[in-house]
Amino acid sequence: MRNYDIPALRKQDIAHHLPAQANYKLIQDLGGSRIITRAEGSTIWDGEGHAILDGMAGLWCVDVGYGREELAKVAYEQMLELPYYNSFFRTATVPAVELATKIAGLLGGELQHVFFNSSGSESNDTVFRLVRHYWTLKGKPERQVFISRRNAYHGSTVAGASLGGMAFMHAQGGLPIPGIEHVMQPYQFGEGFGEDAEAFGQRAADEIEARILSVGPDKVAAFIGEPVQGAGGVIIPPPGYWARVEAICRKYGILLVSDEVITGFGRLGKWFGFQRFGYTPDIVSMAKGLSSGYLPISATGVSHEIVETLRASNDDFVHGYTYSGHPVAAAVALRNLEIIEREKLVDRVAGDIGPHFARALKSLDDHPLVGETRSCGLLGAVEIVSAKGTNQRFTGKEGAAGPVVRDACIAGGLMVRAIRDTIVMCPPFVITHDEVDRMIAIIRAALDESA
Ligand code: PLP
Repeated sequence: MRNYDIPALRKQDIAHHLPAQANYKLIQDLGGSRIITRAEGSTIWDGEGHAILDGMAGLWCVDVGYGREELAKVAYEQMLELPYYNSFFRTATVPAVELATKIAGLLGGELQHVFFNSSGSESNDTVFRLVRHYWTLKGKPERQVFISRRNAYHGSTVAGASLGGMAFMHAQGGLPIPGIEHVMQPYQFGEGFGEDAEAFGQRAADEIEARILSVGPDKVAAFIGEPVQGAGGVIIPPPGYWARVEAICRKYGILLVSDEVITGFGRLGKWFGFQRFGYTPDIVSMAKGLSSGYLPISATGVSHEIVETLRASNDDFVHGYTYSGHPVAAAVALRNLEIIEREKLVDRVAGDIGPHFARALKSLDDHPLVGETRSCGLLGAVEIVSAKGTNQRFTGKEGAAGPVVRDACIAGGLMVRAIRDTIVMCPPFVITHDEVDRMIAIIRAALDESA
């Protein structure tokens, strides 16, 4: 274990480091960011020696848990053999080709081609350009419009944040860029409280069709959605929603894009969310769990038909990044997928730890501040309400309750995230039963403290 001068580092953090998605004044007032120095399994430690159970798997990504020596070894060996090469000069590297083949096998069906990027945002930028280029090649350049959903999260780049439906992100930087329409999210607790679940799902999907008709079906290029919205608050769609969305896309010949940046690689108890919900996308965005966050890498899975269209053009797809298919990141991702397979972690999420997590979370339903708990695989949420049996929120001078409960959880040794008044969780696939029970006990204590 290395020793660090944490007070000095926190001062430097304020002086020089701009953390992502942060309030710089608040961080200054807090005396700098909490410096995380090490991690093992499902636990992180800060520089002051506090152990914190990581209920967020980093940022929805450290699926195989921390401290995997074999991933470090693979990176080391690959760096010595070939630390970098690109795919621009009609070249490729062994890990990139092997990883593409592996992902194609997991995606199955027509999704047999993989384009590499370094982040989920970049993958969705690839989607944006690929889809519009595809329709131009098909002789339908007027098909430009993307349909997405409010509170969707598709990244932080200009295209990613525009595809996303976060109004507070749009407010910074003059977004969204033109040609993106946002419709309602299938958020039953928030927008269909007390309504029959299937009827609500149908209503949410029907809004997509209504928007297609108002935009003009021949102008719509694609619908993009996360199987379960993550950063929007772990929004699990009601039964029938995805089947209806798929039918609408097929009816109007619109491409269906599944953003699996969080849900890919087992998080919902299947390799992909589209397999869990039983629909077939034309394009799939993947990142995070692809390498369990050990190195930055993302992938865009593309259908055979789209790639055949690019081939027929006999022209370059003039899109790509210096680090597309980075060999070290690809080698680590490949080994990460091997670990998930070898340790049967997808089955563990589906049949063991996922159901245990669901049961433990449900035990919070009796708490006076809890309006609903819900989970799908190892994604979970607790809705905090001001009046039991309703979906009413805390307002007034106390403000939102979510951040208060989150801070109490962190002080109690559990990292969770508050999305307004929704506490969200995304633990590593290797979290133990005892650790799940501890998570729920800490949340209950935090709720008690905040009541
Ligand atoms: N898409 C989804 C569904 C995400 O949850 C995220 C990040 O949380 C992104 C895209 C963006 O990924 P990144 O932060 O790697 O750019």
